[in-house]
Amino acid sequence: MNKLEGIEVIENATLKNYNTYKIDAKARYLVKVLNLEGLIKVLKYLKENDIPYFIMGNGSNVILDDYFKGAVIRLDGLKKLEIEGDIVKAMAGVMMGVLANETIKANLSGLEWAINIPGMVGGSIVGNAGAYNSEIFDNLVSIKVIDENLEIKELKKEEIKYEYRHTSLKKSGLIVVQATFKLEKGDYQVSKQIIEDRCERRKATQPLDMPSAGSVFRNPPDDYAGRLIEEAGLKGKRIGGAEVSNIHANFIVNTGNATSNDIKSLIKLVHEEVKRKFNIDLVLEQEIIEWM
Ligand SMILES: Cc1cc2nc3c(=O)[nH]c(=O)nc-3n(C[C@H](O)[C@H](O)[C@H](O)COP(=O)(O)OP(=O)(O)OC[C@H]3O[C@@H](n4cnc5c(N)ncnc54)[C@H](O)[C@@H]3O)c2cc1C
Repeated sequence: MNKLEGIEVIENATLKNYNTYKIDAKARYLVKVLNLEGLIKVLKYLKENDIPYFIMGNGSNVILDDYFKGAVIRLDGLKKLEIEGDIVKAMAGVMMGVLANETIKANLSGLEWAINIPGMVGGSIVGNAGAYNSEIFDNLVSIKVIDENLEIKELKKEEIKYEYRHTSLKKSGLIVVQATFKLEKGDYQVSKQIIEDRCERRKATQPLDMPSAGSVFRNPPDDYAGRLIEEAGLKGKRIGGAEVSNIHANFIVNTGNATSNDIKSLIKLVHEEVKRKFNIDLVLEQEIIEWM
C-alpha cells in the first residue's frame, strides 16, 4: 500500500491526535489521502486485499473503539474550495471553519454558523451538522459520492433523506467527496460580527479548553438535553477519565486519560438517570464506533 501514489500511510498508528476526544485508539493503518485519485487507488487496493476501512473526517463526532485491524482513511488532501458567484463547491476535507470564513469573505451569507464546527465538510454532511437553527442541508444543492463500485456519482439534495443531525448517508457505504452549496448575497462586516458574537457565546458556555466531541445527546423536542442532565444532578459526574462538564452538562470531557469505555459508561449512566428522573429517552448525537 505504501507504494501507491496520492496517499501517505502510517502503520500501527495512534489516533489520539485524530479525534477530538483524544481517545488513544490504535489502527493497523492510518491512510492520509492527498488527492481524489489517491483515494480511489487506496479503496481499490483495500477491497482487493480484503482489508476493512473506515472513513474519518476530523473525528469530532465519534467515540472511537480501542483498536481497528484495518485502515482508517482521512481525507486530509481533499481541500479544494471554489466560489463562483453564489455557488460554492467544497471538497470533503475542507474544515467547516474555513468554509465559513472563505464564504463570508466572498460576501456570501448562510454558513456563518459553521464557524464553530470543528469538523470537515464530508463528516458534517453525513451527520447534517448545524447550529443556531441552521443546518448544512439548508444551503446544500448536491453532493458527489464514491459508491461501492468506486464510481463517482452526483446526488441531488432531494435524493438524500435528512433530519435533525441525521441523514440516510450514515452507514450507507457512500463516501462524500464534494458538496455544492448555493448561498445568499451578504455583507462581510455583518457576517463577521455574527461570527464574532457566536464565538464569544461558545467560549462562555462550552468547555472548549478540554477534549470532547461537542453535544453528547440530541435535544429532545421543546427541551434541552443539557438542562435535563443538569437537573438530574449529573454535572461533574465522573467515570475514569471521563466527566460530565461543569460548564455545559451536555458535554462529556476527557480530563486526561479517558478511554472509550469510560466515555461509553458515563453516557449509559446519564441516559439511565435522565430516563429514571424525567422518563425521557435521550438520543445519542455522537456516534459510538464499533470496530470488529
Ligand atoms: C467543541 C465542539 C463543538 C461542536 N459543536 C457542534 C455543533 O454546534 N453542531 C453540530 O452539528 N456538531 C457539533 N460538533 C460535533 C462535530 O463537530 C460535527 O458533528 C461535525 O460535523 C463532525 O464532522 P467530522 O468531520 O469531525 O466527522 P467525524 O466525526 O470524523 O465522522 C462522523 C461520521 O461521518 C463519517 N464520515 C466522515 N467523513 C465522511 C465522508 N467524507 N464520507 C462518508 N462518511 C464520512 C464517519 O465515518 C463517521 O461515521 C461539535 C464538536 C465539538 C468537539
